Amino acid sequence: MTTTTYQQPNTHGYYGKFGGAFIPEMLHRNVEELRSKYLDIIYDPAFQKEYKALLHDYVGRPSPLYYAKRLSEQYGTQIYLKREDLCHTGSHKLNNALGQILLAERLGKKRIIAETGAGQHGVATATVCALKGVECIVYMGEKDIERQAPNVARMKMLGATVIPAVSGSKTLKDATNEAIRDWINNPVDTHYIIGSVVGPHPYPDMVARFQSIISEEIRWQLKEQTGSELPSHVIACVGGGSNAAGAFYHFLEEPGVQLVAVEASGHGVHSGMSAATTQLGKPGVLHGSKSLVMQTEDGQVVEPHSISAGLDYPGIGPLHANLYDSGRGLFLSATDEDALQAAFNLAKKEGIIPALESSHALAGLEMLSPVTAKKSEAPIPAKAMFTKESTVVVCLSGRGDKDMATYMKAMEGK
Ligand SMILES: *Cc1c(COP(=O)(O)O)cnc(C)c1O
Repeated sequence: MTTTTYQQPNTHGYYGKFGGAFIPEMLHRNVEELRSKYLDIIYDPAFQKEYKALLHDYVGRPSPLYYAKRLSEQYGTQIYLKREDLCHTGSHKLNNALGQILLAERLGKKRIIAETGAGQHGVATATVCALKGVECIVYMGEKDIERQAPNVARMKMLGATVIPAVSGSKTLKDATNEAIRDWINNPVDTHYIIGSVVGPHPYPDMVARFQSIISEEIRWQLKEQTGSELPSHVIACVGGGSNAAGAFYHFLEEPGVQLVAVEASGHGVHSGMSAATTQLGKPGVLHGSKSLVMQTEDGQVVEPHSISAGLDYPGIGPLHANLYDSGRGLFLSATDEDALQAAFNLAKKEGIIPALESSHALAGLEMLSPVTAKKSEAPIPAKAMFTKESTVVVCLSGRGDKDMATYMKAMEGK
């Protein structure tokens, strides 16, 4: 076994104790084909040329790094927002979907399947399939189809077929099970575009590489604006962990940069209605890799809860499980209510309506700011708190259009 870094898994796809590929025999060929070819394909100069050009002209990258003056004043530090909310289709998800459609094309695949929670990954996948004229099938939990009607309409308008997952909690993990079943039944012509840094090796590494454009840009943008490439803190929300992996990637081997992941604790970590995987999870295998998983004593996966469909997942990518296990990352959690407050605060303070997922990252500011010092359910070491001179980058993973129904309901209650 080769040694691992925080950034790169070993040849078997392990980040420390987590990762690997735990797959049914019938998926072995597909996953092995991907594993043996992905790096050569991605780093082929012609691939890079097409990918970079589309990131620029189609996605709208580089996304701005915005100095949030009024937010900085509020929290007594220097805050920059990485504006993934301004990407085409409204979140960071397109960075990965675009990379994977170009890869699928080079693998000769004619049919794309995907799973989606909030609908953002489904929309991103349907978008790139339209761009390339490829058949697209998206699995989505029945409950999420209700919660995210506008995104379902977008997928259909973009030409995708949306198939409801009606088992279990009828959310993301059930949609993922359906997609895996489809791939087993269609092993030759189909590529499965996974939407986060989860799944069997090489998916976590591949998706992290596609999303790493986020921190690649942060480095030069910060240098331009502050004279230094390194922030003191990078904060991102974590569902499976792809926007966080992208925002952390080029800082993982920089020990001076405090990495902060914010999970969704729903009604509270110990309320039984939560999705705070590192706080509640134990090592286990979920959707093809070994990671931390919310499970009962006898290994039944626990139904997660979050107000935000994109964070409503009982697992976490192996890269993040290793950051948690090793102490390299600080893992906080924000409740539904914390996230709503943070969303309304950003709207009023900066004129930006964030996605509910991103609002969890913003809620982390309340806990790390010496001004507000909101109590966190996980202990925060004193050295992780902001000072006036800290340079804090928050990954604003998406915009709030899709969440307006939830925001409207919250306003009625006020
Ligand atoms: C999907 C989504 C997330 C959560 O997924 P990660 O893989 O953890 O990034 C976060 N924010 C937005 C806006 C999303 O759409």
